Amino acid sequence: MTAVDVQPAPSIRPWWMENAGCLGKSRLFFPPPGERPAARERRETRARKICLECNVLHQCQDYARNQRELGFWGGESEIERAEAGYAPTTPVIGLRRHRTAATS
Ligand code: SF4
Repeated sequence: MTAVDVQPAPSIRPWWMENAGCLGKSRLFFPPPGERPAARERRETRARKICLECNVLHQCQDYARNQRELGFWGGESEIERAEAGYAPTTPVIGLRRHRTAATS
């Protein structure tokens, strides 16, 4: 039997994530199940304050737009990304956001 030297896969995390102002604060940036609109607004207001002081805001915003991410990234909510032309591609979530945006 021959020994095989297995190397760990290279990290695919972008470099700027190491400098993220939101490290360890994920619960502010992603909604819990069943979050109500008022709670979402409060949570996203707190997240936005952190983003506006973050050194990698522009890299993060570009990444989230291009990856069609869910959650609050780069100072933008999913709805704000959708309005900028970068809607999430997850069908159910996209539908929910479309309905929410249409009624607000
Ligand atoms: S811009 Fe906001 S979401 Fe992006 S890394 Fe900075 S704190 Fe996190």
